[in-house]
Amino acid sequence: HPFRQAQFLVSANRLAQLPADSGAEVAFAGRSNAGKSSALNAICDQQGLARTSKTPGRTQLLNVFPVGDPARRLVDLPGYGYAKVPEAMRLHWRGVIDEYLRTRASLKGLVLVMDSRHPLKEFDRHMLEFGAASGRACHCLLTKADKLSRSEGLRTLAAVRKELAAFAPDATAQLFSSLARTGLDEARARVAHWLGI
Ligand code: GDP
Repeated sequence: HPFRQAQFLVSANRLAQLPADSGAEVAFAGRSNAGKSSALNAICDQQGLARTSKTPGRTQLLNVFPVGDPARRLVDLPGYGYAKVPEAMRLHWRGVIDEYLRTRASLKGLVLVMDSRHPLKEFDRHMLEFGAASGRACHCLLTKADKLSRSEGLRTLAAVRKELAAFAPDATAQLFSSLARTGLDEARARVAHWLGI
């Protein structure tokens, strides 16, 4: 799969530092500790690609990973809600994410990573509402699905889909586990489709 070619290019702390806004980009968002770095690493089959939440400095930036071609990029957005981040920085990042989602022409889709045991928290809803309002395609990874039994997983998926229908009707959702490596093909297919690869 093409995601093995993903490579770190740049950390941007302002939109102006991002690569030119052309080609196709897919952004990954989620609350801190949701499992976003692990999901990126699993999708790309590269353990050290996205740093985990143990290095909070790095997750405060927009990290850009071209997939083979510089015109096809994954963007790791800052994890939201990290407890040790000062409120002012949190607000700054919320502003940057909102501006990115509103203005980035090459952004073809948004992957929202949520812990399947705690889906659709306030920030997740904010992202999904923002996505729906700005016409961005959204796909939810309900990760750490290995922590749920099969029936709990299916119940969670159905409940999330039902809620999405009410406020972000075009958004899709799937179960995912970086640890058990489940849901990888479905996630890769979605992202590859958005990137046009
Ligand atoms: P991030 O802050 O969203 O980037 O989250 P990380 O990827 O750093 O993961 C946060 C914690 O959840 C770490 O302790 C991971 O080992 C754990 N984790 C991430 N994905 C999974 C998963 O699929 N299953 C399980 N059981 N734990 C996971």
